[in-house]
Amino acid sequence: MKKVPRVVILGAGYGGLVTAIRLQKKLRYNELDVTLVNKHSYHFITTHLHMPAAGTDHPDNARVPINNLLNQSKVKFVKSTVLQIKPEEKSVVLEDGIISYDYLVVGLGSEMETFGIPGLKEYAMAIRSINSVRLIRRQIESMFAKFQEEPHSGDYLTFVVGGAGFTGTEFVGELADRIPALCKEYGVERSSVRIYNVEAAPAALPPGFPADMAQYGMNVLRRKGVTYKLSTSIKEITRDGVLLSNDEFIQAGMVVWSGGIRGNTLLEQAGFDTTRGRVKVDEYLRSLQYPDVYITGDCSAVLNGEGKPYPASAQIAVQQGFNVAANLINDVRSRPLRSFEYDDKGTVASLGKGEAVGVIKQWKVTGKFAVLMKKVIDMRYLFIIGGLPLVLQKAVFKKKAGHQGRRTGEFMQQH
Ligand code: FAD
Ligand code: NAD
Repeated sequence: MKKVPRVVILGAGYGGLVTAIRLQKKLRYNELDVTLVNKHSYHFITTHLHMPAAGTDHPDNARVPINNLLNQSKVKFVKSTVLQIKPEEKSVVLEDGIISYDYLVVGLGSEMETFGIPGLKEYAMAIRSINSVRLIRRQIESMFAKFQEEPHSGDYLTFVVGGAGFTGTEFVGELADRIPALCKEYGVERSSVRIYNVEAAPAALPPGFPADMAQYGMNVLRRKGVTYKLSTSIKEITRDGVLLSNDEFIQAGMVVWSGGIRGNTLLEQAGFDTTRGRVKVDEYLRSLQYPDVYITGDCSAVLNGEGKPYPASAQIAVQQGFNVAANLINDVRSRPLRSFEYDDKGTVASLGKGEAVGVIKQWKVTGKFAVLMKKVIDMRYLFIIGGLPLVLQKAVFKKKAGHQGRRTGEFMQQH
């Protein structure tokens, strides 16, 4: 009997999950034996994590059970943590066993880039996963509780966010929105709370973002109560706060680091040739060293016309997922592989309630229209992974209930 080639997909993030969903949709009976491995039983919608981190939305609204998205007769799901990739042996070591493959798809996402800053790993929190945002939300609340207990004994209500790229910007917008409700709940004056966004570059948002749009974003956030420290970098983080490049020390209750990311270290450890943890891929998204290994999302580096990697984003990861699935099918059907062409549709950054800023193709968008565009982008993604039912559950019937946020639909509670 003909052996069915085995595809193992590592990571159910944007790249890995879309690869799995597309294979599920397009494969014929017994063409490929597909297994998706992920640390959790749910997919998290990373692009929403700044909201539950600040506490303006419930964490459950940013996740979807993987079993609700997969047809297990077509794609098997294994909930496990990947410990090691062995490309020479065509196998992967999981926490509870070893899995071998004919084709591997790596979509294990990113880790925070620390740049060797002392104290960062020990004292800063980062928006990385459902559990990390639960911790951030609880820490914010505990700072309010501590301030109420000991109002004169520390700068509990000074919040420092390191890095004003898209993640830092979206998070400070939500945090600023959350503060009035917390002040009311804990009986604290708004003037007791400070939010600093420290950015090494002269402006918030990435260098390629139009200067007038970056200015718009900063103006909105300043009006919401954010103080920028621009052209200033964090050089050390301690238990009590942050030391800046101008030697100023900001005493702070908590520090959230959004100063950059790198690809998952498992790839480096496996011997893949990486730059900042990202693997350079060929035109079909395969590793240059191991053509049976496809790399998607934040783990991959696809070069633009100027020879620089495109910024990591959900947008590129989703497009890669479509391409990888198509190429796995092309390969098994002995058809030529399809080159990956990134179609950059633009970016919209949320600035908290009712405000956003972005560039879609060549159009600059701000305010309510930008918020609408962001919703449309979200809905399109939900439609790709879960069809209309998921769009209705997550995007249309979603209600925010104050600072707690309300859950949409049912979700099992065991995670
Ligand atoms: P991820 O989506 O991070 O998924 C990786 C998966 O691998 C996860 O499910 C994880 O649990 C799993 N995993 C990791 N390690 C292991 C292991 N050892 N074993 C098993 N499983 C493992 N991009 C946009 O384009 N638009 C946006 O609006 C946007 N907003 C963002 C907002 C925030 C707050 C953040 C932090 C990022 C945002 N991004 C946005 C960037 C985008 O989310 C990432 O580029 C995207 O998630 C990358 O997808 P991925 O598939 O590479 O990895
Ligand atoms: P980033 O690398 O884009 O931004 C990090 C920022 O931190 C930079 O502006 C950098 O100058 C600053 N920084 C670095 N070291 C510093 C220091 N010591 N002190 C002060 N500032 C410092 O990282 P990110 O914002 O986490 O984004 C990661 C990826 O995810 C990016 O590719 C981004 O495009 C994508 N993303 C997209 C969206 C969106 O499309 N709405 C939202 C979030 C993230």
